[in-house]
Amino acid sequence: MAAQIIDGKAVSAKVKEEVRQQIEREGLDVGLAVVIVGDDPASRVYVNNKKKACEVCGIKSYEYALPAETTEEELLELVDTLNADKNVNGILVQLPLPKHLNEEKVIERISPMKDVDAFHAANVGKIMIGNYAFLPCTPAGCMELIHSAGIDVSGKECVVIGRSNIVGKPMAMLLLHENGTVTVCHSRTKDLKEVCRRADILVAAVGRANFVTADMVKDGAVVIDVGINRGEDGKLCGDVKFDEVSEKASFITPVPGGVGPMTIAMLMKNTVMAKKIQS
Ligand code: NAD
Repeated sequence: MAAQIIDGKAVSAKVKEEVRQQIEREGLDVGLAVVIVGDDPASRVYVNNKKKACEVCGIKSYEYALPAETTEEELLELVDTLNADKNVNGILVQLPLPKHLNEEKVIERISPMKDVDAFHAANVGKIMIGNYAFLPCTPAGCMELIHSAGIDVSGKECVVIGRSNIVGKPMAMLLLHENGTVTVCHSRTKDLKEVCRRADILVAAVGRANFVTADMVKDGAVVIDVGINRGEDGKLCGDVKFDEVSEKASFITPVPGGVGPMTIAMLMKNTVMAKKIQS
């Protein structure tokens, strides 16, 4: 039987509407600064989408588009200015940065209270111990999608493919917080297919088109596809071979229209949270 598609567009619209209503109800004045360095086209698209979401939610967005040759000092200076700016509740530095800039150093300079991506070591540490204000947007968005489908993670075999700091590792942690039995796979994992076939909940965050095939998926599994890739036809696609896996899974997220829109919706939620913890 074909899987039910978890509609990330619909769930994200609901989250953004809740954020909008909260801002209106509580009369909040919320601001998000988005910093983009250079002219990476994908980053440009993400930044524009973030600006649009801010408009929908009633969050003021301040964009800082810096040239690719911006020095680290200049970028850190801007972060300092934004840290001190009372109108700015959240600071997001769009990654990846040009090669000559040290991403870790830049992230560490953002005030943890304004770190709406939750990439700062202080926030990552809080996530580890389960006492956090912000959750990283993409894994939090995946959890929201899982919840929206009425799936209880507790006691389930969860397999995450990918161990990046941005997606794989925090994703594993959030599943663990909800009492999943979690395995993290990566490029050195042996028998990946066998490990994946154990999963009741399979999260793919690899960055390779059509990487997850039906023979890697257990009948009735929930499949969350984080990947954003270009297929051979030039079209946007995930890590999961959707046509065949959707015949086997019970629930599946599409690309586009799955995790992607959720990431932005969770960013909006984090920005309001930032406002609350700062006031
Ligand atoms: P990354 O390159 O940092 O990490 C990829 C991970 O995949 C690594 O941990 C690596 O060990 C693992 N991997 C690579 N080859 C493998 C193999 N053969 N077998 C098993 N594991 C393997 O990427 P990332 O930043 O975590 O992003 C992953 C994907 O998610 C990308 O397509 C990215 O564009 C996408 N992404 C989407 C969103 C969103 O909002 N939907 C947000 C962030 C990232």
